[in-house]
Amino acid sequence: MIPLRKNIAEMAGYVPGFQPDNPEQWIKLNTNENPYPTSPQVVAAILQELGTDGASLRQYPDAASKAARIAAAELYGFEPEWLIMANGSDELLNNLIRACANEGDEVAFIQPSYSYYATLIDIQGAKIRTFSLTDDYKIADFPPRYTGKLFFLTNPNAPLGITFSCAEISEIASRCDGLLVVDEAYADFASETAMPLVKKHPNLVVTRTFSKSYALAGMRLGLAVAHPQVIAALDKIRDHYHLDRLALVAAEAALRDQTYLQQRVTEICATRDWFSTKLRDLGFTVIQSQANFVFASPADGDGQHVYDMLKEHKILVRYFNDPLLKHGLRISIGTRQQMEHTLEVLSNNL
Ligand code: PMP
Repeated sequence: MIPLRKNIAEMAGYVPGFQPDNPEQWIKLNTNENPYPTSPQVVAAILQELGTDGASLRQYPDAASKAARIAAAELYGFEPEWLIMANGSDELLNNLIRACANEGDEVAFIQPSYSYYATLIDIQGAKIRTFSLTDDYKIADFPPRYTGKLFFLTNPNAPLGITFSCAEISEIASRCDGLLVVDEAYADFASETAMPLVKKHPNLVVTRTFSKSYALAGMRLGLAVAHPQVIAALDKIRDHYHLDRLALVAAEAALRDQTYLQQRVTEICATRDWFSTKLRDLGFTVIQSQANFVFASPADGDGQHVYDMLKEHKILVRYFNDPLLKHGLRISIGTRQQMEHTLEVLSNNL
């Protein structure tokens, strides 16, 4: 018998979005990746670090990610001790739970939101609490004081694409005894960020990813902004060399090329808004999104049927077999051409 902890033996494990073996044969709109390549400056920085013989890789990377932290601190207007870099924002979500929740402690998130929180809470042996959303997308029954150790608020929400305002986030932070973690994986596509609130609320953590807006999902990069005491705790428990040399130079170059980022984000947001209108013309209900995806429901409320049909036409979108979500689909925003083709397949086959 392998001496597994009971919660590990009993948990199901997270199932990520399907990654096909031959991605070039698909229109891949299922994991909110960026359809465009990353900044040429990022590519140049990686190639320079690698050199012609890869000699730099002989040595360990900078364990403190100093250059990338400074670039992020300058960009967001914080001192570097308010920032930490990460191996994808998933690493931060994991380490925040490890840092704050004992076995049996409560950790909360919104239902629906990012389902990986539940897996991470299960691994820790902590207790899950979920808050649902009202019909107008407010948090239902949030208590005057929330005493759980952490509350994960995905903003913009995934998979719905709706947002909570800074005023709402500030109010929630002041009602939380534990940490309020605002997961801003999609915030570069939205109009507001909670980052300025971090200076006002010592229990507020904002996490970001490079996987979506920076087109670096394959590089595994994220960051968090929080009070230096939170950052110091996260620094204690992370793997010491959690970011490799190529990822570190990629992060710094990506953060320093905001012109490229803004161009791509503007393009994706324009495609998103145009695609949403066209989907509505086809009879779909589409939630107004501030992310790089839309949540759309066909008139008959059968998301699975549309998913299967699109898959037959080599278009991958995300279907969630969840009572709250099975009436629709989450569709990532690709290039204008990919979305035109998707609309054509939908209008010819539904
Ligand atoms: N948060 C949310 C809401 C996400 O959708 C994702 C990506 N699936 C992540 C965090 C994790 O992103 P990363 O690639 O940085 O680990």
